[in-house]
Amino acid sequence: MSVDAKAPVESPEVKEILVRYRDVWAIYYGEALIGWDMETYMPAGASAERGEARATLRKLVQRLLTHPEFVTLVESADPKNDFERGVIRVLKRDIEYFTKLPPEFVEEEAKVTTKAFLVWREAKERDDFERFAPLLEKVFELQRRKAEYLGYEDHPYDALLDRFEEGLTVKDCERIFSVVDRLSDLFKRIIEGRPREHSLEREAYDERDMKRLNEHILYILGYDFSRGRMDVSAHPFTQGIGLDDVRITTWYHGRDFRRSLLAVMHEFGHAAYDLNIDRAYWATPVQQGASLGVHESQSRFWENIVGRSREFVETTFDEMVLALPFLRRYSPSDVYEYFTLVRPELIRVEADEVHYGLHIYLRYEIERRAMESELGVKELPEFWSEEMERLIGIEPKGYADGVLQDVHWSLGYVGYFPTYFIGTVLSAQIASKIPDLSEKIAQRRFKEIMEFLRERIQKWGAVYPPKELVRRALGEDLDPERFLDYARRKYLA
Ligand code: MG
Repeated sequence: MSVDAKAPVESPEVKEILVRYRDVWAIYYGEALIGWDMETYMPAGASAERGEARATLRKLVQRLLTHPEFVTLVESADPKNDFERGVIRVLKRDIEYFTKLPPEFVEEEAKVTTKAFLVWREAKERDDFERFAPLLEKVFELQRRKAEYLGYEDHPYDALLDRFEEGLTVKDCERIFSVVDRLSDLFKRIIEGRPREHSLEREAYDERDMKRLNEHILYILGYDFSRGRMDVSAHPFTQGIGLDDVRITTWYHGRDFRRSLLAVMHEFGHAAYDLNIDRAYWATPVQQGASLGVHESQSRFWENIVGRSREFVETTFDEMVLALPFLRRYSPSDVYEYFTLVRPELIRVEADEVHYGLHIYLRYEIERRAMESELGVKELPEFWSEEMERLIGIEPKGYADGVLQDVHWSLGYVGYFPTYFIGTVLSAQIASKIPDLSEKIAQRRFKEIMEFLRERIQKWGAVYPPKELVRRALGEDLDPERFLDYARRKYLA
């Protein structure tokens, strides 16, 4: 495919900016490929050297983006259309981030989080919170300082949330999470009298069979293998490298096949977003998703709304049986029940679509209170247990399946978690806007479904900030009630 993209450029400054930006874009391209390789095929011995190369590329980007001439161009630009406004908005955010944080702080954060990550891994393995607590304390303190450097209007946490989801504030989160008690009640009602496990969880599969099924499903959904590929990694992920190279990975555990298949559908959603950005935005700052939350809405859509639907299971069942012979002993209804099993989970990433948001709320509460210095690190495990019991009805046995389970805090990612719930809510909200969605799934009209997503969301890249994009795409703001409706209709009917 041609890369001869014609961005709608009207203002001379933006024209100049885009020419200079090409260098940054090329470094990002290399960084992305390097990142993908690190998670898939890089020899273990290369990791230290790779780290150095990566850090140097990072510094190069920073130098290019904060070059005085470039900054002046961005600041003096007079954008003439939505595309140009998007370019300037994205660049101003990047420049601000690099210039507001003193280099000593950036260095200290990198050092602390490098250590915190290693200690966290050890602490989790040994189920030893005491070991990680001092570093977590340090990470939270650094994040509080970071918020002061970045600046905020109402709440220090706002400054951190905004890094992961542009414009997101505590006020927004309070609104988004206002459904939490009702979600918890709904979850408890749904699991009443429902089976807590399914025999398909124990069925073993051959990895080559599973891979063939994954590829087949990707083919049906419309994944363009000439612009992507599927590999294996410790945790499934999507890596957008360029507009014509967006790769996904999955995992194989040898049993419980939905874990592999639904991971593929999840990553397919991420990949479709990156592949469907308007070609005119190629190699510009808006050739990326609008935000983590919007990106996650695309992955959850294909994983949960499509993958976990009765219609999808029914229309693909015969092909599933062909690939996985043990399915001959099961019916489409069995597979649907297996895909939609709802039960209390201690581990966030194992949680079903109904109560996933409760896990996120718990983390949000902890982060918000930690940023207010209202909750000490020492009190975390107790708070965790109490909230898990209250919201989900189970308590962790140790720390590894409780407060130590996620990697995020050790990496300094405070403010990231809410984007997962935003994605879940938005996916249900999008689904409610697609006419005859169930029929479309049943008839495999995935192209038409993707066309809706592409026109409303994907093709715009980062031209609009997430809140504005959602309003333009759906005619309303993010609405958690839509998710409650969806869960109620799907699981209580
Ligand atoms: Mg995801």
